[in-house]
Amino acid sequence: MRKQFAVIGLGRFGTSVCSELYKLGHEVLAVDRNEKKVEDAIAFSTRAIIAESTDEKALQSIGINNFSYVIVAIGDHIQASILTTLILKEFEVENVWVKARNHHHHRVLEKIGADRIIHPEHDMGIRIAHSLDSEKVIDYIELSMDHSIVELKASKKISGKTLAGLNIRKKYGCTILGIKTGDKLNISPMPDDEISENDVLIVVGENKDLKRFEKDGI
Ligand code: ADP
Repeated sequence: MRKQFAVIGLGRFGTSVCSELYKLGHEVLAVDRNEKKVEDAIAFSTRAIIAESTDEKALQSIGINNFSYVIVAIGDHIQASILTTLILKEFEVENVWVKARNHHHHRVLEKIGADRIIHPEHDMGIRIAHSLDSEKVIDYIELSMDHSIVELKASKKISGKTLAGLNIRKKYGCTILGIKTGDKLNISPMPDDEISENDVLIVVGENKDLKRFEKDGI
């Protein structure tokens, strides 16, 4: 079955989720109480509707319960975000993903059944800090408390070496998921694939092992 998306709140975050889903070829309903925001969203949504999301009847008339994913991207209005989430879960929307403003907001959202709680600034801040921490780190995605995926830039040191020769899994306990060379992405790297300087290795592993590999191995 095709996924049906609705994005409520068309600030910077909601707009970027909505337009990217639309670009990816999905049907997306854009909702905001601000007329201007809704007008702008016509260009990057399948349908754009002016509605106050804390109004149960308004959500019902949109048929919000038919959507498999609803993203609540109301940033500053914590009360509206909470009430909207509550209504959506009462309507039995299966996947309600909500942007949280702070820790207290997060806890309430968790209690009322939000399926995923997002902290865009916090998460982006962590990714940027890892890139600042080391010039080799191009990007960083946290998988759990102890595990991450990092994109690491290959230095001269390993240029011309093969994956088998580097023996990364044995030495560092990390796994290479892919190798980027310019715009080209190799997602099934073979043991005899050679690495060139400035290639970007996509590596998964335990944080301590990844750090070791970044410091000494690449
Ligand atoms: P960001 O930080 O991502 O830019 P904002 O808090 O600035 O987010 O934007 C949130 C959007 O949500 C605004 O466009 C605002 O009009 C909309 N919004 C806020 N409350 C409601 C509500 N109760 N119903 C519908 N839209 C709302």
